[in-house]
Amino acid sequence: MTSIISKLPQVGTTIFTTMSALSAQVGAINLSQGFPDYECSPQLVELVNQAMKDGYNQYAPMAGNKALRDEISLKVQKLHKATYNPDTEITITAGGTQGIFTTISAVIQPSDEVIVFEPAYDSYAPTIKIMGGVVKSLELEPANNYRIDWNMVKKLVTNRTRLIILNSPHNPTATILHQEDIEQLSAIVRSQDILILSDEVYEHLIYDGEVHHSMARYPELKERSFIVASFGKLFHATGWKVGYCLAPAHLMTEFRKVHQYLVFSVNSPVQQAIAQYLKDEDTYLSLPAFFQQKRDYFRKGLAETKFELLPSYGSYFQSVKYGHLNQEFDTEFAMRLTREAGVACIPTSAFYTRGTDHKVLRFCFAKKQETLDDAVNRLLDFKF
Ligand code: GLN
Repeated sequence: MTSIISKLPQVGTTIFTTMSALSAQVGAINLSQGFPDYECSPQLVELVNQAMKDGYNQYAPMAGNKALRDEISLKVQKLHKATYNPDTEITITAGGTQGIFTTISAVIQPSDEVIVFEPAYDSYAPTIKIMGGVVKSLELEPANNYRIDWNMVKKLVTNRTRLIILNSPHNPTATILHQEDIEQLSAIVRSQDILILSDEVYEHLIYDGEVHHSMARYPELKERSFIVASFGKLFHATGWKVGYCLAPAHLMTEFRKVHQYLVFSVNSPVQQAIAQYLKDEDTYLSLPAFFQQKRDYFRKGLAETKFELLPSYGSYFQSVKYGHLNQEFDTEFAMRLTREAGVACIPTSAFYTRGTDHKVLRFCFAKKQETLDDAVNRLLDFKF
């Protein structure tokens, strides 16, 4: 029997896979993993079909379809007044998670430290560990609405700090960065050799007229940032696995060195289709209103249940507290809720490296109205 030393001895299957599988097994309504249960635009599907018929069936360029990179460059210029050269500063990725993995692989040397705010998307910490990096996590609390205490961040910075990972709008807490966060962050990284990985996959899912504070907007942050984005989130097609990364040329050069050996290039017809589809800015500018309506509808329903609602400023997630109802560990409670109420969610302890349990569950509201109705009715009937 051969054996290997696990690079991730503590890691099992991701919570998204686990909860989606359990949900399917018991026939629950799946509000766990974040993905829509309605179709993406038929026009976009048509464009993919057309791209295949037009012969976009061989390798796309390593950096991505040129027309798509041009469109992304125009979009970022228009939205954030930020210039990214499509030839040297934009790379198309196989989704957001690949952009995150590639960035961390490209910049982290063994024993480099990475500051991560937890709860955090579950890929960050394992990827840092695979690269031999050290996760310096700062745990945020629901009690103060997951606010970042920048004085604590300052204390975490050492001469080994190489990267800070940010995520706004935030998965799973649905919080967003504000202007004062940007100022504090700028003050900390200024005159330090620290890079930023900004996970902005929910950039257009932001509500109540709030502005998305992309790192692209702030020149002194932009020059040290890798920004990761996702077309799956943007166009209700998470299964297509296409996203992109923005970074200044000298950083993108290193990103591409890894990218070319990790995926080489990404699904060609989908890129060609998105390049056409992106020309209509309404395809993404309509998203805040579209999702805000779903958020409001779901919150209204959930407010009738025994859960206590946390705010949702962005992303397609809504978290609830249940500590006043029972003291079960959140993973156990999420599984029981899936089996007994028939509604699947994500326990947020999965987003803390230490497994911290604040008795908070995350629901995804990127669902048809009848799905949300059905889920709320089941939660109303559930005997806590
Ligand atoms: N980003 C999605 C979520 O948080 C799912 C990603 C995944 O399944 N890896 O639910």
